[in-house]
Amino acid sequence: METGKIIKVAGPVVEAEGLRGAKMYDVVKVSNQKLIGEIIELAKDLVTIQVYEETSGIGPGEPVFSTGMPLSVELGPGLIKSIYDGIQRPLDLIRLSKGDFISRGAEEDAINRKKKWDFEPVLKKGDKVISGDIIGTVQESSIIQHKIMIPYGIQGEIEEIYKGKFTVTETITKIRDRQGLLQEIKMLQKWPVRKLRPYKEKLPPFEPLITGQRVIDTFFPIAKGGTACIPGPFGSGKTVIQHQLSKWCNAEIIIFIGCGERGNEMTDVLLEFPELIDPHTGKRLMERTILIANTSNMPVAAREASVYTGITIAEYYRDMGYNVALMADSTSRWAEAMREISGRLEEMPGEEGYPAYLGTRISSFYERSGRVKCLSNDDREATLSVIGAVSPPGGDLSEPVTQNTLRTVQVFWSLQDKLAYERHFPAIDWLTSYSLYLSQLSEFYEKEINKDFIELRNKSMGILQQEAELEEIVRLVGVDALSTHERLILETARSIREDFLHQDAFDEIDTYTSVKKQFLMLKLIILFHETAEKVIVQGVNIEKINSLPVKSNIIRAKYIKENNLKKFSEIEKEIICQINSTTT
Ligand code: ADP
Repeated sequence: METGKIIKVAGPVVEAEGLRGAKMYDVVKVSNQKLIGEIIELAKDLVTIQVYEETSGIGPGEPVFSTGMPLSVELGPGLIKSIYDGIQRPLDLIRLSKGDFISRGAEEDAINRKKKWDFEPVLKKGDKVISGDIIGTVQESSIIQHKIMIPYGIQGEIEEIYKGKFTVTETITKIRDRQGLLQEIKMLQKWPVRKLRPYKEKLPPFEPLITGQRVIDTFFPIAKGGTACIPGPFGSGKTVIQHQLSKWCNAEIIIFIGCGERGNEMTDVLLEFPELIDPHTGKRLMERTILIANTSNMPVAAREASVYTGITIAEYYRDMGYNVALMADSTSRWAEAMREISGRLEEMPGEEGYPAYLGTRISSFYERSGRVKCLSNDDREATLSVIGAVSPPGGDLSEPVTQNTLRTVQVFWSLQDKLAYERHFPAIDWLTSYSLYLSQLSEFYEKEINKDFIELRNKSMGILQQEAELEEIVRLVGVDALSTHERLILETARSIREDFLHQDAFDEIDTYTSVKKQFLMLKLIILFHETAEKVIVQGVNIEKINSLPVKSNIIRAKYIKENNLKKFSEIEKEIICQINSTTT
């Protein structure tokens, strides 16, 4: 191991000399306390290191040890249910051994070395394999089967494959590679976090990530393999939405990265997440979740790493063929960490002091999402969807982190505290949110749900936009200035907002709505609107229409159970019948 010497310490940034042969992004251990750091700048004999632990008390002259390895994560069975910090140290295990505050230089294996897993081979001696091929499986949690893949860079013929109980470091398969060498395959793999895990081909997204949240699925859908951004002013319901997405979205694996600023933000995640129940299985959501959390006593640099640690683990499960959803809260804290490190490096600052490469870093993070054909012989497909929260100071969306994020992501769910004050939940503003996946996903909606789905969605969106314009007029000259038809538009828009967009996360039925039911609910509202339009021209009074008893059926439609969707056609008939009766 090469040893160098510290010459300067500035917060999380340390300069050292004498580390010959050091490479960019190599991991080093700083001082005799072995604090973990990463080389982020190389100049002749001088290296700059960002340290992932508190550097107080460390000074010039102390040693720096090179490991010769880039910052990597451990991959293998045992990841699921784990709670890690930004550099994949298992927080729960460290807490057990070292107490609540992680002491410096704490080292625990990210993946348990002693636990034995039941390895079930799916290939046999003589089979030819390439990187990414699945050689067998392990039941990792009560619901997730971990696929053991041939590591990247290895191909050949299986010489031996074992069945039975193994630890992650024991050999489960021997491969005779092209050079005739025998390669021993173990369940544990490592991967450098800053390098994206390869796949065969990137495919365009075609299917929505279904969340059961009406404002998302119907109005602003995210594709499986897509990207979305959500700003979260305090109290706007960001946590509830993130929990709802984690619980309900149809991804098999959830990775949650918490880069909290204040200690209690992260404690909330650490306490709440493990308590969540997975509605699909009735078991704990952790059975298919990995949490990465930066506690407040960790320096900023660890936040920087956590984003990469999280996405690398997410890619690994994607490579198995799973649909993975990654949530990062909040990427603004990650950007602030970048800003702080950049400042310490005395780099030329860009907008608001953020480094000039802020935009590139953000986009290369989101670009690791996608729908892909995995590396392997079997052409399996998988997706990695990325949802990043931003926390712009003062809700100012023009600040650089939000702007750079919006330039990259395809969906924006505009959470507004104003709506939250009005108790309109989820507080996603229908006028400023958008999804650029609509055209790619419309075929799915029209084929799988209903051929009129997109038309209905667009019509409803149009009514909401007209409402905004009409409200302006009402504000200026009062409601009496509006025609009957315009007043009908206001009423329908109100109905779309209250009877459709508004969704109670805590109601047993309302918490999740299938896309089929979403369509039927919206169809009731628009059917009412269009039928009413016809009788209005015959001079029927708008108050009379609005007070029809069938209106209460529309209000209560959200509570119709998923196994009783035939009820909707009864209400449709009732709508037509009651509105038509107003003309007599
Ligand atoms: P934030 O994380 O943005 O500070 P929370 O997610 O904790 O805010 O939400 C604040 C409160 O708003 C919640 O305790 C809950 O009462 C209410 N709320 C948010 N979203 C919903 C929802 N979808 N349905 C019902 N109530 C909600």
